[in-house]
Amino acid sequence: MASSFGAARTIIHVDLNAFYCAVEEQNDPALRGRAFAVGARAQDRGVVASCSYPARRCGVRSAMAMGLAQRLCPHLLVVSPRHAHYRAVSAQVMELLRGFTAQLEQLSIDEAFLDVTQLVAQNRIAAGKALALEIQRRILDELGLSCSVGVASNKMVAKIATDCGKAAVNTGHSPHALCVVEPGQEAQFLAPLPVSALWGVGPKLEARLKDLGIETIGALAKWSERDLMRRFGRHGADLSQHARGLDKREIVTERESKSISSETTFTQDVEEWEDLHEALQEQAQGVALQLQKQKLHATTVKLKLRWSDFSFSTRQTTLLFATDAAPVIQEAATALLARLWAGAEPVRLLGVGVSGLSPIRQLGLFDSVVEEAAPVETPAPQENPPVEAEPRVPQERQQRLQEAVALLEARFGSDAVHRGARREEGSH
Ligand SMILES: [Mg+2]
Repeated sequence: MASSFGAARTIIHVDLNAFYCAVEEQNDPALRGRAFAVGARAQDRGVVASCSYPARRCGVRSAMAMGLAQRLCPHLLVVSPRHAHYRAVSAQVMELLRGFTAQLEQLSIDEAFLDVTQLVAQNRIAAGKALALEIQRRILDELGLSCSVGVASNKMVAKIATDCGKAAVNTGHSPHALCVVEPGQEAQFLAPLPVSALWGVGPKLEARLKDLGIETIGALAKWSERDLMRRFGRHGADLSQHARGLDKREIVTERESKSISSETTFTQDVEEWEDLHEALQEQAQGVALQLQKQKLHATTVKLKLRWSDFSFSTRQTTLLFATDAAPVIQEAATALLARLWAGAEPVRLLGVGVSGLSPIRQLGLFDSVVEEAAPVETPAPQENPPVEAEPRVPQERQQRLQEAVALLEARFGSDAVHRGARREEGSH
């Protein structure tokens, strides 16, 4: 875990610009300056995994259905994704970044946080900015890739800074943005932004906040924390803190962030509880099987839902005891599903995941209490066989699976996505 010197930290968020597209442009320079999207074709129910800046000027966005993208941009070129290649290039970027500090959290295939507090202990933010510029220069010089960078005193503000920096550069070219938020300026920086810029504020929560007359982060920051807690439970406290630019979350290095999950992208949106529950059951069993194979127990169960409008919702819960039992994971996931899904709302993707992994100890059932209190330890990599073993699925399904994985990686971080379960594609 990253150590922080008191409350003052310096966090750098790095985000590669239109990453898949940038890699494809390296491979085929004729693509430069063209409106193109990486993703499966519309007739294969493809979605835009990444789009070039000229395509963005036509309104094309990541995670948009390819059919819609092609209507918005009739001359759009569609390039098939090569995920294994992107992962290899991503690994080079992460290796370069780890050269700066081991306190690195890879957030997705093309994003990472670096806690550089110890590197820039003196003159923190100015030194952080200099380091950010150096990171941008080296990624460009050594790997030929453009990235945008945010620097701030915590993860949330650093990431939002990157997003703001990118949004401020609207040239139709790679933004290569750098945005620095000085310590003490966090709340002021966030105040004019929409509440949806905050982590954890999806369309539903955004709508509920709007009903209260809260549209900007500044307006949310003025609301009483007690009242937010009354309305939104524990999440209300987070909301209040985040709106004021406070985020205590530390860098979670790769070793600490291992998770196992299973997702189903439905070929047709699902609206029935029974269908969702059936998929969830299989996913819980698949995840439990992976835990058992790897001799691991998990303490956290997470549920992910992707709605028909492509927005995501997630919920997670911490178990009383670490487990590798399918019924326990299933029960926790079912409770989360019941909380997230009010019925009748079409679901495009469902996923069950577990984290907080620790090696199984030879203890009896009732010794779990002892295990709960013991420090959680992640096994060394060699003890942990790759969970990304390729399942035997036909080429086309594999392709669609990779799309789903890419989207999940984009949303939840690379370690959140493993193809571990028996079933990755729904038969509904
Ligand atoms: Mg990116």
